[in-house]
Formats: sequence, structure tokens, C-alpha cells
Amino acid sequence: MSLVVGLTGGIGSGKTTVADFFAGLGAAVVDTDAIAHELTSARGAAMPAIVEAFGGAVVRGDGGLDRAAMRRLCFSDPARRERLEAILHPLIRRESVARCERADRAPYVLLVVPLLVESGAYRDRVDRILLVDCDEALQIARVMARSALSEDEVRAIMATQASRAERLAAADDVLSNTGARDELRAAVLILHRRYVELGRRARPAAADGGARGVPGENQKRS
Ligand code: ADP
Repeated sequence: MSLVVGLTGGIGSGKTTVADFFAGLGAAVVDTDAIAHELTSARGAAMPAIVEAFGGAVVRGDGGLDRAAMRRLCFSDPARRERLEAILHPLIRRESVARCERADRAPYVLLVVPLLVESGAYRDRVDRILLVDCDEALQIARVMARSALSEDEVRAIMATQASRAERLAAADDVLSNTGARDELRAAVLILHRRYVELGRRARPAAADGGARGVPGENQKRS
């Protein structure tokens, strides 16, 4: 299997922007949010279990998940959120592992996991953690500019996520996204070259069936 770099960062930090840059350079991008959307779209693999658990009121006319209705249900009862996550998370994990394995011809895989630092399940599946980092004020401004969320709503989402310090402590590599897009793109290119090299070095060891040759500063995958 190719080297797997886990990409994470808080809401609005720039994960999607960074993942697009990496994809443009030839990395295989596996995005857990995109997988979640596919699983809950019309005929998505999670829909039968969701309908069984929550009934038809959370289903749109086309058969996909009515996210607004689901959000309202979960807001009034956190146990429902846990039930939804118990359905979705194992399916997302299984599909993301399958996609990482299928990407074995790519120089490396970028696995985008917004809550990677919070989730033990993904920390064990990546070779290194890349953090997109920016200060909270910038996160809030960027999210408000791209959505209809108020500052309080963005802060409420941020309160459910790991702190900036926790993310920085877990990261092997950090992309600071406090400047212009072009600066970010240049920093991505430098990291891309490094990951191509690390991916190349990891391959012979994997082919021999031996230990993987390229741990992060802390080797994560057991
Ligand atoms: P995430 O996926 O982490 O939530 P995004 O990549 O969607 O973050 O970025 C949040 C918003 O900020 C988007 O509208 C994006 O276009 C914008 N953005 C990200 N990085 C920059 C930057 N360096 N300069 C200006 N806008 C940016």
C-alpha cells in the first residue's frame, strides 16, 4: 500500500483548498467527508440502516438523507447523533481503507479526516499527520465568508473539535495557512516533493513484506 498522509485541521482552516492543490500535483486524495456524502446520497449504502433507525422523516424525495431534518433531530437528542455515527463511522472507515488500498499506484495517498486528531481509529491508519493550521479568528472569518453561519455557530462547532494546541502536538508536518493562496500552494509543492520521496522509500520495504521503511517522526501504523 502507498504511503498514507492524514490531512486534518479545524473547520475553515483550509483542508479542502490544500487537498485540491495536492490532487493537482498527482496525490491520490481520499476524503472521508466526501465518502460520508456518498453513503447518505440516494441509494447510498448507509441509507437502509438510517431509515430503519430514524424512519422516513429524514429521507428526501430522491431517497438521500435530509441533512437539515437529521441535524434538527440530533440537536434535540445527542443519543441520536451517536446512533447515526454508529451507523456511518464503520462504513466510512471501511470505504476509506478500501480506497487507500486501491490507490497503490499513486506516489502517496492523502487521507482527509477533519477529526483525525480526535479519532483513534484514523491515527492508527496513517503514516504521518499533516495539519493545516491557522488562528481561530481567521478560521471564523473564512467559514462566515463561505456560509450562512454566525460567529456563535462557528464557535460552537469549533468547541466540539480538538484545540489548536492538541492538533499541533499530534502533527508530523504543519502547513500554515495564514497568508495568500499562492504562499500555501508553494508550501504544498515542497511537501509534495517530500512525500513522493518518502513514498518511494516506503515501497521496497512494503514489497518485501518487511517493516515499512518510512515512519513519521512517530510511527503510527501498527
Ligand atoms: P476546510 O476544508 O478546512 O473547512 P476550506 O479549504 O474550505 O477549509 O477553506 C475555508 C474557506 O477559506 C474557503 O472558502 C476557502 O476558499 C478559503 N481559503 C482557504 N485558504 C485561503 C487562503 N490562503 N486565502 C484566502 N482564502 C482562503
